This record gives sequence, structure tokens and C-alpha cells, in this order.
Amino acid sequence: MGGAFNLGRVFGIQFRLDYTWFIIFMLITTSLSWQLFPGSYPGWPWLLYWVIGIVTSLLFFASVLAHELAHSLVGRINGIPIKSITLFIFGGIAHMTKEATRPGAEFKMAAAGPACSLAIGGLFALLYLFTHGRIEPIAAMAYWLAYINVALAIFNLIPGFPLDGGRVFRSILWRVSGNYKRSTRIATRVGQGVGYLFIMGGILIMFVLHDWLSGLWLAFIGWFLQNAASLSYRQVQWREGLHRFTVLEVMTADCPVVPPTATVNQLVQGYAFTTGHHCFLVAEEGRLMGILTLHNIKTVSQPDWSVTQVKEIMTPVDKLKVTYPDQDALSILEQMDESNINQMPVVSEGRVIGLIARDNLIRFLRIRSQSGG
Ligand SMILES: [Zn+2]
Repeated sequence: MGGAFNLGRVFGIQFRLDYTWFIIFMLITTSLSWQLFPGSYPGWPWLLYWVIGIVTSLLFFASVLAHELAHSLVGRINGIPIKSITLFIFGGIAHMTKEATRPGAEFKMAAAGPACSLAIGGLFALLYLFTHGRIEPIAAMAYWLAYINVALAIFNLIPGFPLDGGRVFRSILWRVSGNYKRSTRIATRVGQGVGYLFIMGGILIMFVLHDWLSGLWLAFIGWFLQNAASLSYRQVQWREGLHRFTVLEVMTADCPVVPPTATVNQLVQGYAFTTGHHCFLVAEEGRLMGILTLHNIKTVSQPDWSVTQVKEIMTPVDKLKVTYPDQDALSILEQMDESNINQMPVVSEGRVIGLIARDNLIRFLRIRSQSGG
């Protein structure tokens, strides 16, 4: 994950902040403290404009976080595990989640975010009513936050995939038609259409109304939406593409057997770089103790390679789920998402014949989709 800042864990979900957020934060703070508050509420000391501007921006950021958290918690209750979330420029767009397997679960999860934003907007509206005419800086802050949270809810409810409204739309189509793929195709097409409408609207505003900044901003949002919709559709296609492959076709075979006491250094020098192997079976006297992939090796920093033994970083056998050569690859990817595991040994007639790693599965998908296969 390049370009993102780690925020830490909330309810066990890893939160990351895309670097674009820092730019947004500065833009919002500056426009509030420099323009909006001084324009609407003249006569405050200049320091107060900045303090209220910064606090307002931070509360806006917390509102977006709460929106995402609402998705995650409702998702989790409905059996959609979420590992991490990266907050992008529009907050609501990039949900790093596994796709829902039931329309009801998707509906609830998608609707939770806008519902949360509306609730927060309502709370700030109440705060505004209580402070209006009494504590002007707090009222100014509450007014803007009420407005922006309601705007966030409305923007996200636009029925174009992958916005929340697009997901709600897809879940309804899916419930009615029972066809996940077609529902996704329609919802992503609508998402692309909305994107193009925004772009055209932006161009009109630029050339007809000569409002260059607003026009450019609208066109930019449109371009972003259009891109996100196309990308989502391709991702769904990849996943569908996996249906056609069996475990046997996507697994890595010929995993060398290594002893549990080997160090990472020995492993890397002996196998990984010289023979290009990406998986290892850890066994002692013919008994399988665990498996190891490059994914495990990456968790150890290079200076520790010579003192770390394979058994310390391997995935032990009791944490493994096995898979069989004739299972279909998509169900394996879903099982990995659900159980939060990165690799599964492939067993045939009681013998480990290969390994499926999540990284490999995703790389396989990418190559397939690029070659049009
Ligand atoms: Zn959302």
C-alpha cells in the first residue's frame, strides 16, 4: 500500500489515510479559516478563525471515519469481514472489502454509511440550534458540519457503483433478479453514466458560466467516479473469471520440503532466489508441521534473517485449512477472505501436492484479465 499513512486499529480494523487527505485537510482548513468564517462571521480575532477552522476540519475527518466505521461494523455483523480501510479524497469510495455474498447483507452494509452521516448531520444541526445566537464560533462550526455531513450522505447515495448508493442499487437489482453479475454490470454502467454526466456538467459550468474552479472540480469528481466504476467492474469480472479454473490449475506445485530449524537466511540463499520457489513445506521426519511462503518471509526484517528459524514464522498445520485439486478457484479466494488466511495447502490422496497463496491467485487473475483470457 504505497502512499498511505497508518492510523492504527479501530475495533480490529486497520485504518489507513491516503496522502491526498493531507492536501484536503489543508484546503478545507484554509478555506474555512480564510474565507468562509471571516466572510459569514466578521469580527472574530484572527486566531479564533484558525482554531475553529482546524477543529472543524478535524471533526469533518472524524465524521468520515465514523461513516466508514458504520459500514465496517454493520458488514461484520452480517458476515462480511473487513481487514483494512484506506480513506481517500472522498472517503466513501474506496472500501477495502470483500464482496458480499447475499443481497440483504450488502444492502445493510452499504446503507449504514449514509445513515451514519445523516445521523451525525442531525446531531450537529441540534448543536447549531442550541448554540445559535449564544456561542457564535461553535454555532458556525456546527452549521458547516451539519451541512457537510448531509452533503456527504447525499453524494454517496447517488446510485452509481461503487458509491454506497450504487451498492444499495445493486443489492436491490440482485435481490429482484437473483443475478449478481448482471446487477453489477447495470450498477457499474449507471456509475459510469453518472461520472460522464458530472464531467459534462463540469465542462458546461466552465465554458457557459465561466466558473472555472467549480467546473473543474465537478469534472474531476466525474472523472474519478467514471474510473472507479470501470475498475469495480473489471474486479468483478476477474472474480467471475476464477470460476472457470480449478485449484489444480492455479496452485504452485513442487514446494521444497525444509526442516523447521532452518533459518530464513538458509532458506533465502538455498531456495527462494536460486530456484525461484515461492512456497515451502516445513516437515520433520516426514510429518508436515506447517507451510511457508514469501509472504511469511516478508514479515521478518533482513538483519533478523540469520537468527529467525522457519518454525517461528511458518503457518502451523493446525491453523491451515486444506483444499483439494478439483475445487474451483473463486471459492478458495472467498474462503481465504472469510477465514483471513493467506495460503492453503492442496491435498490429494492424503499427500500435499502444492500450495495456493492469495498473492499468487491475485497475480494469476491479473495476468488472465490483461491477456483477455
Ligand atoms: Zn460509504
